[in-house]
Amino acid sequence: MEITGITVWQKTLPLTKPYWLSGGRLKFEALDSTFVRIETRDGLIGWGEGCPWGETYLPAFGGGIRAGLDVLAPVLIGENAGDIERLNRAMDRALPGHPYAKAALDAALWDLAGKRAGAPLFELFGGAEGAEAGVAVNSSISTGTPEEMVALINAARAQGYRTHSAKVGGADIAADIARIEAIEAALPADEHITYDVNRAWVPGVAIQVMQAVSGVARGWFEQPCETLDQCAVVAAHTTQPIMLDECLHTFQDHLDAWKRSAGQGCKIKPNRLGGLTKTRQVRDFCVAVGWQMHVEDVGGTVLADTAALHLALSTPQENRLASWLGHAHLVDDFAPGEGARNQGGVVRLDPSKPGIGVEPPEDWLGAPFKAYA
Ligand code: MG
Repeated sequence: MEITGITVWQKTLPLTKPYWLSGGRLKFEALDSTFVRIETRDGLIGWGEGCPWGETYLPAFGGGIRAGLDVLAPVLIGENAGDIERLNRAMDRALPGHPYAKAALDAALWDLAGKRAGAPLFELFGGAEGAEAGVAVNSSISTGTPEEMVALINAARAQGYRTHSAKVGGADIAADIARIEAIEAALPADEHITYDVNRAWVPGVAIQVMQAVSGVARGWFEQPCETLDQCAVVAAHTTQPIMLDECLHTFQDHLDAWKRSAGQGCKIKPNRLGGLTKTRQVRDFCVAVGWQMHVEDVGGTVLADTAALHLALSTPQENRLASWLGHAHLVDDFAPGEGARNQGGVVRLDPSKPGIGVEPPEDWLGAPFKAYA
């Protein structure tokens, strides 16, 4: 399965409506996505997508992926696409760090592996867990007034969502307490919620808000502060479970977080961690230490979502909470109904589709950005 060519496309993906997080500090209106197609001598084609959530969410941006591909794509040309772990090490030698620049190539290698095996990726990642019930998906509730946020949760419920991620966080302690109290008062007993702070609080504010709502808040608090150390301080002074997200970039970060008891769970995202290969390693570590996870991607179309959902489906049910679908926020949809879709609050993947199971049509992608051979 010799790699003979890698073709790259860039697409700007407008959001259906502006999206606010981190207490309104960060606003997003469109995503810059990069698609890669790896071609092999025997005619197999693998697809991957790299799509940061704008420029301000993580130390990652669309132009950085395409610059990174100038270094990484030549490393893969001529190599055996089946040597996924070896090729990941080769990419790490050629370009240390920059995990997000590697994720699309790694996804395309896995897509090829699945197609060659004639198997969906979830089988290669360990096998489906709870395929009949499906993988629960969660809504994503933009920051707003308490009334606006409750209305968004009610609208999400009408789409089948029973797990919600509500964006809170800011300097106004009373406003955050009011948001959480209103949401808890309105939320049915059988639904689940995470309050995603997106690192907006300093530790003192996190402790104040979380203690103020400790009698009513039933859910997780996600990435309350900027750094792992700050989150560890919060975890030591509060009782609610903490989920870590933006402060985790490497396997070592997860090990450090676990050693420091900085949380009880995390988001694992291929486009943050450097691909499906590294995300699966982290997934297996989290299973071993009993952490709970949301397995999803940072952003992108149904291609990125479906790749991540294969990993979610193969994660033990007691360790997976829910997954988020980035494509639900986009105007464009190149394959309506295909791949990972919200079907009444869950995703079911088609076991008859090998690899990731969804491909962007080239007439939708337009002219390539660059090609390597
Ligand atoms: Mg988050």
